[in-house]
Amino acid sequence: MRNLKELVRPNILKLSPYSSARDDFKGDASIWLDANENPFGELNRYPDPYQRELKKILAKYNDLKTTQLFVGNGSDEVIDLLFRLFVKPGADKALTFSPTYGMYRVSADINDAQLIEVPLNNEFQIDLNETIPYLDDPNLKLIFICSPNNPTGNLLRNEDIEELLGRFDGIVVIDEAYIDFADAPSWNKRLEEFDNLIVTQTFSKARGLAAARLGIAFANPSIIEFLNKLKPPYNVSTLNQAAGYRSMKNQREFELQIERIKLERSKLIDELKSISIVKRIFPTDANFTLVEIENATDIYLQLTQKGIVVRDRSKLIPNTLRISIGTTTENNLLLNELKQLAS
Ligand SMILES: *Cc1c(COP(=O)(O)O)cnc(C)c1O
Repeated sequence: MRNLKELVRPNILKLSPYSSARDDFKGDASIWLDANENPFGELNRYPDPYQRELKKILAKYNDLKTTQLFVGNGSDEVIDLLFRLFVKPGADKALTFSPTYGMYRVSADINDAQLIEVPLNNEFQIDLNETIPYLDDPNLKLIFICSPNNPTGNLLRNEDIEELLGRFDGIVVIDEAYIDFADAPSWNKRLEEFDNLIVTQTFSKARGLAAARLGIAFANPSIIEFLNKLKPPYNVSTLNQAAGYRSMKNQREFELQIERIKLERSKLIDELKSISIVKRIFPTDANFTLVEIENATDIYLQLTQKGIVVRDRSKLIPNTLRISIGTTTENNLLLNELKQLAS
């Protein structure tokens, strides 16, 4: 990796961050008169700006140090902060592999960054030959790799990711929003090996806490320090920190849900295979499956008439619907409707 000081935007290098009341005094006290809070009520105190309790349990679970962890208001906040940390508006670039998660494009546009989209190959894998020529551009700061990829569902090959991590002297972000549904370890196991690696995860999918807005970044401590400087002081509410903590305490429930979703996934895929209008089911390592279907947009609209909403991805990949795995009942209702539409 290039020296971090060359990668970070100059204005962020110079930034003196907002110093909150909870930054200035961190010890134990019984009388808090430092933050202009109302002394009455239940949610009257500002949250812990660094989410210490949540980070402790996350660090333990991931076998990492708390200094290697950042918690954001959803991983969408993390993505935006990474643009603000590394990508100079109007000058710098980011790169990703399309089709992929739409927020990289939106965050790039908001931050006036050029986003290079290298198409994934026929197997929805990274095309290294197409990618390598971009890597020497000194203005290229960030690469986003979504694995398992949304909306295609597949994991991206380790060898290709390794090659990029080794060759590129900027930052490589691996978005693991769906990693808990895949039979693969997290890349956060390899932080020591690659100092330019940032891994993001979220509580929104496998942890069932989409409403709580909790995202995680795993990275080397010097990157985490910059994210802490940059973030809004109280970016994760007390309620949301507590919800994340409870989820981490309740591993058993989490594991049971993952098993159920994986079982439902294989049942749904088996059933889909027998429906005539379903042309292709793409392999998935996530809690959704992408299917190619005759007249997909039409089918999408007809399903909505029945109150069933899937995601029409036909603009990205012709005639495809992305179907999230629901409960047995929900999946069966979907299958019944599809069978009727096919007959
Ligand atoms: C859903 C999703 C996210 C969203 O994360 P939040 O933590 O809810 O902001 C991030 N990345 C990918 C690839 C996703 O599909």
